[in-house]
Amino acid sequence: MTTEHRVLNPATEELVAVVHATTAAEVDGAVARATAAQRTWAALAPADRARLLRRFAVLVDENAERLARLEVTEAGHTLGNARWEAANVRDLLDYAAGGVERLTGRQIPVPGGVDLTFLEPLGVVGVIAPWNFPMPIAAWGAAPALAAGNAVLLKPAETTPLTALELAGLALDAGLPEHLFQVLPGAGDVAGNALVEHPGVAKIVFTGSTRVGKQIMARCADRMKRLTLELGGKSPNIVFADADLEAAAASAPMSFLDNAGQDCCARSRILVQRTVYERFLELLLPAVSSVVVGDPEDEKTQMGPLISRAQLERVRALVPEAADGIRGTAPSGPGFWFPPTVLTGTAPDSPVATEEVFGPVAVVLPFEDEADAVRLANATAYGLAGSLWTRDVGRALRVSQAVRAGNLSVNSHSAVRYWTPFGGYKQSGLGRELGPDALAAFTETKNVFIATEA
Ligand code: NAD
Repeated sequence: MTTEHRVLNPATEELVAVVHATTAAEVDGAVARATAAQRTWAALAPADRARLLRRFAVLVDENAERLARLEVTEAGHTLGNARWEAANVRDLLDYAAGGVERLTGRQIPVPGGVDLTFLEPLGVVGVIAPWNFPMPIAAWGAAPALAAGNAVLLKPAETTPLTALELAGLALDAGLPEHLFQVLPGAGDVAGNALVEHPGVAKIVFTGSTRVGKQIMARCADRMKRLTLELGGKSPNIVFADADLEAAAASAPMSFLDNAGQDCCARSRILVQRTVYERFLELLLPAVSSVVVGDPEDEKTQMGPLISRAQLERVRALVPEAADGIRGTAPSGPGFWFPPTVLTGTAPDSPVATEEVFGPVAVVLPFEDEADAVRLANATAYGLAGSLWTRDVGRALRVSQAVRAGNLSVNSHSAVRYWTPFGGYKQSGLGRELGPDALAAFTETKNVFIATEA
């Protein structure tokens, strides 16, 4: 069993750090300490818990540039993206802190007495995060869980533990109780699995592949453990003939190239109405070719490398070499580089058109009419996100309602906003994160009836 992980810079393949891999026995100890810390935390006055979380947010803000540069080094993200990610953690903590003093139960009218509900913390929550957005995804689980009065054990991905470890240090500096928010780097099937199987962990928040998500769901079922799953996607970008084609084509490249396509919401299936298909391609292909790929530390760079050699091999295996389309440029030499790629003439049921590539690759498929667009949009096992471009407001609403996905945007590609709920239909997940109900997902509702009749 490996007892340490080597963290590489994906743009250079240089060794950045060697990190201890948490063992199952060490997870036991962490759960025991978190259980004690959670009692201290839940006993604090709500205003004090809110104040500590706000102080945590201030420290993240003060250290944002350092966190962002660490994210660039360990994950290969562009500097612009990494800065947004650090700011997102700050905003999530602030937003969750605002919920601490508003986490109220209800008083329900019943005969013969008074009925009250209480939203009680679950206890210790395990957050298992992927490598594609290490900081934000960790915070989507951790911030509301802490705000609702829980302790959090965060298991970052093997390739990207460094920003998570920094965040744990900042939580301590902010004055959160020791052991309340612990980071346990390590292997998924060791440290991650130990969290899933541990009876002292009340809920798992898992973000990652659908394959691992299903295994975790089965293990949680045995223990009746609470579970949120945020899994894969193969999201459509539907362009109708009545759309502003220039705007749709200008925004399409970064909707699947951002983070080198390693984005569960990547709009990697571009569906275009046949009457404007050729015109749209004329606009799209030069826009894709002009995307700047290279050194993620350069402020002008729009796309960096993939996370690892394994991911590079996975992407290569899914993209047929001889397929029609265009390929942009990417650096050669060290680093895990794959060029921006658009495939045309692909069969709608081929693996590259239906499976999640998690790389900078999109397929463009023609459709005939609105019904055909909806049919194609729904023709995958996933249902995470999607975009549609049209000037017809009735069509925008009809298609938004007909597409079986959790997060749709009209005439834009926005998907994840911390104010609004996020999650998937079908094999893209279970439950929702973020938004106004985020804290409630980390509570049990207790109902208490008090008889008033003598
Ligand atoms: P992954 O499933 O391999 O790993 C995710 C995390 O789970 C890692 O921390 C890993 O160590 C851990 N893990 C692996 N096996 C485990 C096990 N048996 N028990 C417990 N934990 C285990 O996924 P990945 O390759 O890191 O991430 C990419 C995937 O994540 C993509 O499929 C992507 O779509 C998905 N994703 C989804 C969302 C979303 O919100 N829906 C967001 C980001 C990524």
